[in-house]
Amino acid sequence: MKKLIILFLLVTLNSYASDAAPEMNDKNGYVAPFKMFDNVYYVGDKWVSSYAIETGEGLVIIDTLDFPYSKWIPINLSKLGLEDKKVTHIFVTHGHSDHAGGAQYLQSHYGAKVLMTKSGHDLVIEQSRKSHGINSFLPPRVDVVVHDNMVLRLGEETFTFYTTPGHTAGDYSIDFFVKDKGVAHRAFVVGGHSINAKDSKLAKQFFESMDRIRAIASQPPAVTVNLANHPHKNDLFLNHKKQSANPAKNPFISNSNFFDFLSKQEELAREKVNELSFQ
Ligand SMILES: [Zn+2]
Repeated sequence: MKKLIILFLLVTLNSYASDAAPEMNDKNGYVAPFKMFDNVYYVGDKWVSSYAIETGEGLVIIDTLDFPYSKWIPINLSKLGLEDKKVTHIFVTHGHSDHAGGAQYLQSHYGAKVLMTKSGHDLVIEQSRKSHGINSFLPPRVDVVVHDNMVLRLGEETFTFYTTPGHTAGDYSIDFFVKDKGVAHRAFVVGGHSINAKDSKLAKQFFESMDRIRAIASQPPAVTVNLANHPHKNDLFLNHKKQSANPAKNPFISNSNFFDFLSKQEELAREKVNELSFQ
């Protein structure tokens, strides 16, 4: 009997532990959420970005972090005072666990629709099978299969999706407008910004996708907001500091940041390809 009680306690404690969000500290990569635009919030961590977009019909979450750190997203939304807004959609730019790991959790938490490409979903299923320990996660159900040039209108927002393979086979990028003090600015999320140089098909596709993204983003009004899916790629924390110091000028708006980022990623990709060819 005593053994049974101990077993019961252990199982109960364990289930409490697995329900709880990881400790929110710097070592774990926790970052306090913040507002970037009238309708855009950063809810990601130190290494991987996650954005919440207010559409007028609720919230869209772009990318979902590695599980269980994804559990910080609902906490972050509450900290921002957005707990009463309905999360209607979850955009998962590609199938790697740091972007897709929390999609199933958030999907069941909010009853939200998940948007992925078919091959992005195939990859997240594979990644979920490999996941283990505290990081083990389930793949989401895909409610909307993303295809090239797909347009989705949600409230006041219009999102255009482009399939941009090269990091993985199932990457997609997102084109939409954000608002700063009521003024619209064109934003872009590149779904996978580093090359998979070991796979020659993906490597070729990477450069084609980057060329295509540059051409699309250059069309007027050109993109001025780089919503990269890793914070070090758009100087996110530095810009947040600048924004806090001078709220009158939004440092996330820049004529060059997005295009410099594309060139930098291409340069890094060429270096990787060269390195491999010398091996
Ligand atoms: Zn990735």
